[in-house]
Amino acid sequence: MFDKILIANRGEIACRVIRTARRMGVATVAVYSDADAQALHVTIADEAVHIGASPVGESYLVAERIIDAAKRTGAQAIHPGYGFLSENPGFVDEVEAAGLVFIGPSARAIRAMGLKDAAKRLMEKAGVPVVPGYHGEGQEIVILATKAREIGYPVLIKARAGGGGKGMRKVDHPDDFAEALAAARREAKAAFGDDRVLVEKYVEKPRHIEVQVFGDNHGNVVHLYERDCSAQRRHQKVIEEAPAPGMTAAMREAMTEAAVKAARAIDYSGAGTIEFIVDASDGLRPDRFWFMEMNTRLQVEHPVTEMITGVDLVEWQLRVASGERLPRMQDEISLSGHAFEARLYAEDAAKGFLPAIGTLHRLRFPDATAGEASLRIETGVREGDAISPFYDPMIAKLVTHAPTRDGALAALSEALSRTEIAGSVVNTAFLAALAADPDFAAGNVDTGMIGRRQDELTAASPVTAQHVAAAAVAAAGLDVRLDAADPWAALAGYAHFQPLAKTVSLAHDGEEIRARLTVAANGNAQVAVDGASVAVPASGGRFATARWPGHVTVFSGAASHTFAVHDPFANAEAAAAGGDALRAPMPGLVKLARAAAGDSVVKGQPLLVLEAMKMEHTIAAPHDGVIEEIVPEGAQVTDGAVLVRFREEG
Ligand code: ADP
Ligand code: ADP
Ligand code: MG
Repeated sequence: MFDKILIANRGEIACRVIRTARRMGVATVAVYSDADAQALHVTIADEAVHIGASPVGESYLVAERIIDAAKRTGAQAIHPGYGFLSENPGFVDEVEAAGLVFIGPSARAIRAMGLKDAAKRLMEKAGVPVVPGYHGEGQEIVILATKAREIGYPVLIKARAGGGGKGMRKVDHPDDFAEALAAARREAKAAFGDDRVLVEKYVEKPRHIEVQVFGDNHGNVVHLYERDCSAQRRHQKVIEEAPAPGMTAAMREAMTEAAVKAARAIDYSGAGTIEFIVDASDGLRPDRFWFMEMNTRLQVEHPVTEMITGVDLVEWQLRVASGERLPRMQDEISLSGHAFEARLYAEDAAKGFLPAIGTLHRLRFPDATAGEASLRIETGVREGDAISPFYDPMIAKLVTHAPTRDGALAALSEALSRTEIAGSVVNTAFLAALAADPDFAAGNVDTGMIGRRQDELTAASPVTAQHVAAAAVAAAGLDVRLDAADPWAALAGYAHFQPLAKTVSLAHDGEEIRARLTVAANGNAQVAVDGASVAVPASGGRFATARWPGHVTVFSGAASHTFAVHDPFANAEAAAAGGDALRAPMPGLVKLARAAAGDSVVKGQPLLVLEAMKMEHTIAAPHDGVIEEIVPEGAQVTDGAVLVRFREEG
């Protein structure tokens, strides 16, 4: 076994690898960028090396700096995590040339599976069923369009270098083929520097079922059962589970056998996943699943497999990379119970899952679940840490396990409703809505389900007078003070035993709310909002709340409602700093300016397009007005920079 390894990654996966290494007595070296100087993975590793600036291209993707850090610290091996350099065969070559061990498959195996077209040709030869389609060399539009017609619509155009759901377009009708092809190529070129595509039959009522495989350097390959990742938004996984609901013995045997065959075809060593697309229009049938791609790394959703098999996959990775045999053979691997994983992201589900940033002023997870279920939280951030624009906005993964699927799902719902996050918009309520959905609960999910029912699943839960009252009490600071030994000590300036009255100004979604608080000597508060009167007892209201700069967040089940708290001083400061201005919500590039100085604009009118976090964000006018000044196209702006300044009203 290695004495010391370097983890070439950040966030939750770096923390995950460090945890197992520590348990095995292996010392760990973290690497970090400027933005991550204080990150959790840095503080929990035995050593840490700074490798560059915050953008990934200047730190986590610079092979040379990572290898240099390993050599300087005496690490013998490098664990790549997922993403970043994990599936980069050139990196594996460089690691090995430096005399270090890459904790993962050979460069040759990664190359064989790196391009979807070549991988499909290889799998076809190995006798693994592949999605019907065209994965040849020809790239002329006439060839591709003819093939699409032969395959039969609908078809899916896919970037051969694709990943993360990018460079993919479903085409329903031949008339739309040319345009979809152009779009897929553009996206593929931008994301992967390779615009070659393949065309596949679009599988109807598709389910995404993948098989975890593991190989060693002694010719052994095993599988660790399947995971179902059909709950997807924009081709990206949301909630994963193992085993797959409705799986039959015949289907499982056919799928796991095909997966092991695929891994053997490339002498696979280490952890890998064979992704299959399944036509579930007629239940799960052994002749209706096809190889989609192989991910030659540890997968984000690996914990669900660990929960049902009791195997620590990271431990196996370290053992296999150091030359050991697989710790268990196929007949020693069994499946027990059911597990779910929900990916908690800083993103706005209601706005098309727009990624978000922010400081996590509140970050609390429940520490246990009731009954036979168990809960595992995988995270790389602590309360007070920021979700920055530089990296993936995942905050945590909530993983539950129970003897039954219903039990594990109930535990997931329960864990989501007891999670408190404030400081950024999060997808907790969306995950809870999905977990509570009758179709999801019945295991009746295909990859298009979330897209079809997006509005319903992302609908905001209404803000009630009770929520406002809780926010007002928290904004007035009473929640904190009432906990203190002498609640009245904090209320300096008010006479003892006199009812205290105060007006609190809040805003929710741009709407002004005034709440009138009256607090009796016993600490019970009465809050008048919009004519309604709500009692909030001194013992605290029904809802947990979090105060953070300029805001109060009220937690209500898995939903949360954030109110801006009016602070006249803060407003004066903002006015001094630039009056009525529209600021960048995150650092980015101004792609398009759709208005000019002197223009009269109306509320909601798109003013410019900001490209940030690999997505385009349309910035609209917050109110009617006349533009005094607007940033030019092509400008690179920092977080909070003024994008548009409005003319002062008379
Ligand atoms: P999986 O199939 O394991 O669920 P995806 O195919 O969605 O994962 O992407 C792989 C993982 O790698 C994702 O979780 C994503 O966060 C991460 N990832 C993808 N691209 C990048 C990147 N450019 N930088 C950092 N992490 C990335
Ligand atoms: P990526 O490398 O981006 O993960 P995949 O080939 O694994 O690309 O496909 C991602 C997702 O797209 C799948 O999980 C599935 O939801 C959908 N998909 C892929 N191929 C097909 C297909 N032929 N028919 C229907 N859906 C598909
Ligand atoms: Mg995939």
